[in-house]
Amino acid sequence: MKTISLIVPCYNEEPTVELFYDTTEKVFDKLNASHEEHYQPDYLFINDGSADKTLDVMRKLNSEHPDEVHYISFSRNFGKESAFAAGLSNAHGDYVAVMDVDLQDPPELLLQMVDILEDPKQDYDVVGCVQTSRKQNPIRAFLSASFYKIINKMSKVQMKQNVRDYRLMSRKYVDAILKLPEYNRFSKGLFSWVGFNTKYLEYEGRPRAAGETSWSIFQLFEYSMEAIVDFSDVPLKLATFVGIVTFFLSVIGLFFVVIRAMFFGGSVNGWASMVSIILLLSGVQLFSLGILGTYIGKIYLETKHRPKFVIAEKR
Ligand code: UDP
Ligand code: MG
Repeated sequence: MKTISLIVPCYNEEPTVELFYDTTEKVFDKLNASHEEHYQPDYLFINDGSADKTLDVMRKLNSEHPDEVHYISFSRNFGKESAFAAGLSNAHGDYVAVMDVDLQDPPELLLQMVDILEDPKQDYDVVGCVQTSRKQNPIRAFLSASFYKIINKMSKVQMKQNVRDYRLMSRKYVDAILKLPEYNRFSKGLFSWVGFNTKYLEYEGRPRAAGETSWSIFQLFEYSMEAIVDFSDVPLKLATFVGIVTFFLSVIGLFFVVIRAMFFGGSVNGWASMVSIILLLSGVQLFSLGILGTYIGKIYLETKHRPKFVIAEKR
């Protein structure tokens, strides 16, 4: 028997949790009917501070299937990344999947994913999913494409566009992820960072089964910024670069202003010296800020040893 842990973050998902459970159960029936090996699902729902009755639904499922369904409930909304972190550190399966509860990550794909990881001829440790055609508004699609271009230029870790968080991972892969202790977690980046051979399955995007998406465009922007700061120090270097350029421009300006004042007379008295000082000093200031920023950025990421989430209830 092999256990497959399913990590399912839920934020205000009262209408979808049970639907998810029923659908996935059918997928496991199919999986077990077509394989000699028995695959046991181990549901791990994470209630990420929902304001609706999501937790009650989880409690009910757990009381009906105490061996199969477990849940962790956070003390408030910590975000999907924290839910992943909680799930990964509490999942004991031979394989571990992370998936949305809204059935946008089709559970049927697990059939193919399991086969790929089980195939001894293919040496994969993780199967990810790429969404092919998701109806997005053109502005969102453009912003998303630009984001991936920028982050892939800025960071050594390469990230693929339209990759969902949905993935099935081997134990080895999960253990590698668990060794990354950082508080600031951009899981798409972390998943790429650990490496291993990844197989990508393509599937057509689909609307939510029920409920509403909780991502505003502003949150997506924040998420992108998080990715850049977590996986690249290019912005800090940019500050240094701008500082240096300003500094050299100021020196040129300084010569210009001083020579003009000496040979052709200045505009108003004192103007030349004032402008020179301002130009020079602002260049130097930006330059120093850039250097400082480089160090503070590193310290900032290292020193906050806060827990990634607080558990209020676990079963
Ligand atoms: N989610 C969460 N915490 C949050 C926001 C979302 O756990 O703060 C969960 C949500 O319940 C869902 C998954 O993360 O299972 C993906 O969210 P959603 O479907 O809103 O995003 P989308 O599929 O539109 O990218
Ligand atoms: Mg969704």
